[in-house]
Amino acid sequence: KPVVLSGCQPSGQLTIGNYMGALKQWVSMQDDFECLYMLVDLHAITVRQDPKNLYEACLDGLALYLACGIDPDKSTLFMQSHVPEHAQLSWVLNCYAQMGELNRMTQFKDKSAKNINNINVGLYAYPVLQAADILLYQADKVPVGEDQKQHLELTRDIATRFNNLYSGDVFTLPDPYIPEFGARIMSLQEPDRKMSKSDTNPNNFIGLLEEPKKLTKKIKRAVTDSDEQARIYFNPEEKPGVSNLLTLLSLATGKSIDALVPEYEDKMYGHLKGDVADAVVALVEPIQQKFHTLRNDRAYLDSVMKDGAAKASEKASVTLQKVYEAVGFIAKP
Ligand code: ATP
Ligand code: MG
Repeated sequence: KPVVLSGCQPSGQLTIGNYMGALKQWVSMQDDFECLYMLVDLHAITVRQDPKNLYEACLDGLALYLACGIDPDKSTLFMQSHVPEHAQLSWVLNCYAQMGELNRMTQFKDKSAKNINNINVGLYAYPVLQAADILLYQADKVPVGEDQKQHLELTRDIATRFNNLYSGDVFTLPDPYIPEFGARIMSLQEPDRKMSKSDTNPNNFIGLLEEPKKLTKKIKRAVTDSDEQARIYFNPEEKPGVSNLLTLLSLATGKSIDALVPEYEDKMYGHLKGDVADAVVALVEPIQQKFHTLRNDRAYLDSVMKDGAAKASEKASVTLQKVYEAVGFIAKP
């Protein structure tokens, strides 16, 4: 089976964007692929985190993965920091990534513009750690949202460079797996930016664990587009706010946009928002129920983390040995 690897940062509460762009795809891939899913805590500290919040966010994330349908009997589910090979390979790859390449990464530009007081080396090297995450497991496919495509291209470039230098097949070249539609959910208040869980304005995102009442309020307050006629149609450039709501509705109900648009042709924005809110609530409510049960069972969460880390390390250590040997390190006698 082809190997699939992906992860989310425990940098806040997972959003409906993370669900649509990542978790939902992950769940659907479990039967056909050998899947590894992780919580990338090493990545999360590239932005300053409160330690207590980070700790809780890691447990929340794990329980949420499980509540969304990740099955630890089918997939390898683990915390990135429990598998030391990630940091180890990342160092080696730092020496094979060029600053010129990293300077072009748009996520670094965005995040450093937002965190001008903490533009740290880790934030800059983030894509290299991500390359290590993927290459360690010889992943064939990486399900990512549109926002991560550039990082995956860099991963391929680094892997190709390394393979060419060391006559070989040390790394498998990963392909992106981007769902054709709905790969990108936009911010509610600024619909020309993607929805992000670490957004400082909570009105911009829909958290998967938010109370239905609160969630409904946020959706009803979402920015719509002001043009002469308040018409509802799908065009992300002309109508980013309305198009984002249509995307959400389509993904939450499983109806295509083409089928939805005629239903709203002569309706008001408020009507659309009400329907989006209902559909999102119907989607998250059962997930929230499962989440609360799992989150209270620390012994179970621990056992999942322990098994996951052991399975992941077993694979990761094979690649790391290959890499160390390729660059000329002496194997520990
Ligand atoms: P942060 O703001 O901390 O970067 P994030 O919301 O961007 O958080 P990540 O942990 O960076 O989330 O990404 C986890 C996964 O979710 C990735 O596969 C990413 O492509 C996907 N993803 C993130 N935001 C969206 C979005 N708005 N729409 C669709 N997919 C998304
Ligand atoms: Mg992100």
